[in-house]
Amino acid sequence: THFGFQTVTEAERREKIYHVFESVAKKYDVMNDSMTLGIHRLWKDILLHKMNPSPGTLLLDVAGGTGDIAFRFINYVRSARERQLQQKLKHHQNLSWQEISESYQEDKFKSLGDSQVVVCDINKEMLKVGKQKAQHLGYSEGLSWVLGDAEELPFDDDKFDVYTIAFGIRNVTRIDLALQEAYRVLKPGGRFLCLEFSHVSNPLLSRLYDLYSFQVIPVLGEVIAGDWKSYQYLVESIRRFPPQEELKAMIEDAGFFKVDYQNLNSGIVAIHSGFKL
Ligand code: SAM
Repeated sequence: THFGFQTVTEAERREKIYHVFESVAKKYDVMNDSMTLGIHRLWKDILLHKMNPSPGTLLLDVAGGTGDIAFRFINYVRSARERQLQQKLKHHQNLSWQEISESYQEDKFKSLGDSQVVVCDINKEMLKVGKQKAQHLGYSEGLSWVLGDAEELPFDDDKFDVYTIAFGIRNVTRIDLALQEAYRVLKPGGRFLCLEFSHVSNPLLSRLYDLYSFQVIPVLGEVIAGDWKSYQYLVESIRRFPPQEELKAMIEDAGFFKVDYQNLNSGIVAIHSGFKL
């Protein structure tokens, strides 16, 4: 590979990955949309549906980058609260429309309830772009940003209800350590969810996908971000990443129970899930 990963040390690899995300941070969102034709949005929505967070959930989104999962979490919880409120109002038939509307508006815009999301990422630049996006989109309450390494999380044990890592784990140098850390910071009963590029089993689709990945993505990287090498790295990191069953076994080795996965788009990506008991 152009980074010669067979010969570089873990520290060198970590530094190179840092520079990849440092240099793509500002163009990260637009590149994500163009590389996946916008489909990454659907994959992230599916992750949220699978999580189905209830009001009060405390989420840790590791390798959270520019905040896509966190923003979706906030929207999802707000809608759940809105639905709860509508149910409540239905049973208060003596209220005037004005009272209903006032109470509805108040609650809708009030808050996330007790829910909170912490975005943790190793890269300052990615977090900076995320914070600017949050400000622009009006997300603030219940949301915090923490600089930290997935392999050594700066959080206490048994703290979170859900841990997510979306398109992040393949960039982590020691996946086993990151999984152990995920286990440590989750509360008993907490859920681990990982959304990641994976391996396509259908041979025809697999060839088309290879063609797209190696021929088109670096070109898009060059045209849109002026950065061929970073996008070539992204493609290579997807190829090197362990296939579905192997990752499942690694998650089990970290101590998780009821581990399974769901392939999306024939395995272009997969969502792995597990529970801490
Ligand atoms: N989760 C976001 C999303 O789905 O759009 C961002 C994914 S981006 C492809 C990968 C992120 O992983 C980058 O923001 C990078 O800085 C972060 N990352 C890489 N190694 C990490 C580590 N050891 N700990 C925490 N974050 C890491």
